[in-house]
Amino acid sequence: MSEDIFKKVISHAKEYGFIFQSSEIYDGLSAVYDYGQNGAELKNNIKQYWWKAMVQMNENIVGIDSAIFMHPTTWKASGHVDAFNDPLIDNKDSKKRYRADVLIEDYCAKIESKIDKEVEKAAKRFGEAFDKKEFLATNGRVVEYQQKIDAILHRMGQSLEKEDLEDVKALIEELEIADPVTGSKNWTDVRQFNLMFGTKLGATADQAMDLYLRPETAQGIFLNYLNVQKTGRMKLPFGIAQIGKAFRNEIVARQFIFRQREFEQMEMQFFVKPGTELDWYAKWKETRLRWHQTLGLGNDNYRFHDHEKLAHYANAAADIEFKFPFGFKELEGIHSRTDFDLKAHEKFSGKKLQYFDNETNESYTPYVVETSVGLDRMFLSVFSNSLKEEKLEDGSERIVLALPPALAPIKVAILPLVKKDGLPEFAEKIVKKLRLDYNVIYEEKDSIGKRYRRMDAIGTPFCVTVDHDSLDDNSVTLRHRDTMEQKRVNIDELAAIIDLEVNMKYLFEKL
Ligand code: ATP
Repeated sequence: MSEDIFKKVISHAKEYGFIFQSSEIYDGLSAVYDYGQNGAELKNNIKQYWWKAMVQMNENIVGIDSAIFMHPTTWKASGHVDAFNDPLIDNKDSKKRYRADVLIEDYCAKIESKIDKEVEKAAKRFGEAFDKKEFLATNGRVVEYQQKIDAILHRMGQSLEKEDLEDVKALIEELEIADPVTGSKNWTDVRQFNLMFGTKLGATADQAMDLYLRPETAQGIFLNYLNVQKTGRMKLPFGIAQIGKAFRNEIVARQFIFRQREFEQMEMQFFVKPGTELDWYAKWKETRLRWHQTLGLGNDNYRFHDHEKLAHYANAAADIEFKFPFGFKELEGIHSRTDFDLKAHEKFSGKKLQYFDNETNESYTPYVVETSVGLDRMFLSVFSNSLKEEKLEDGSERIVLALPPALAPIKVAILPLVKKDGLPEFAEKIVKKLRLDYNVIYEEKDSIGKRYRRMDAIGTPFCVTVDHDSLDDNSVTLRHRDTMEQKRVNIDELAAIIDLEVNMKYLFEKL
């Protein structure tokens, strides 16, 4: 069923101008996507929700915009040249390439769906008396499934940590994992593959300098740590945030915009006094979860996944996972990165990147807690969760993109009932007024019913219909996307009613 839903998400995104395959007329470029007229608006609104919540609502966080090109030594110091690898494995029969860790994780996800089925069955059997927590902890079969998952992930984590790729392969063979496409179990050895894209700076081949396209935005923040701290007179703890493109040569780039080779990150590095980092880490986990949940997509659709295998720079790490149409997957990473990055850049650059603490009269290298969310994955979470097929009372169906109104690309559609009798002119007056505050659209083509359905499909929270009576009583019909309720409203009251639902400030108030 979920595969079906996912296909619908992808085709809806294309049909309604949200997301197109990049270079489509040349048959596309794999795992690269373009955002269309509605997609760009939705994406910008998500950025705004993040930027305002993280930067402008926090006195001790500032935002920057660093370049994609960085000095190549950056990536030596950060460890990306040596360690930014994924374990890949090829199937000898199908010639298809996979990430070994993903094959194993997918195997575990299958066991997890068995747990879900048991829960579903039990919930039906016990009715209201059903206690999910208790069931998960005590049901023999479920406990066994869970133990199996834990054991597999633990072993994989240990082997990857030790770079014991032979054991990763052994695990795949022991679990009898087959090529998901062909069913073949004829695997090559597991190898490491570096994910950074290389390019060159300079005109002549012999003088050109090897560069990388940044695989994360975080390093642009570390390299500017001292610039920002000094010019902004920042005191610990403080954060630096940025939104920007990142590039990774992903081995298997499937799942639409979930895993792309060019994508956007929204990252914040929070610099803290050493020893306080784990408290801040816990705090940022909670703060970030609340930011997601405030959108109203359903609290049960989020969960934490604490990492077994820590990256080379971290002393604690967790993901916020979201229930995508293809299951729970990472949406955001929260990492306690210690002083690894600043120390490494000090070593490689020979420059001090420290903080002078006025209270204790000492200098030290701050520790860092990072929050890093993929903008495109945010987009996919919001978009896929909002797409709904509804059966109406009269037996007909409608497709509605029930986006959080503050994120909707277009807030109001102004629709004259007919293209004559002065109705378009009256509608234009409303457009001119409302567009000072919101992205609005004027549409006069097609029947009013068709126009409503089109607006439902792109997630427009309100439609305003101008009819002949409007000219006399200065009122219009205001239609609500989710309830489909229609009411007569004086045009002077329109802005206030609409504002109550679409203004992003009401989300910020809840944070
Ligand atoms: P994954 O395990 O899924 O590859 P990751 O752990 O490598 O992700 P991070 O390095 O923590 O990801 O990057 C932070 C965030 O950037 C992720 O939570 C995700 O939202 C986003 N992100 C990472 N890689 C991609 C990608 N290829 N396409 C889209 N978004 C991505």
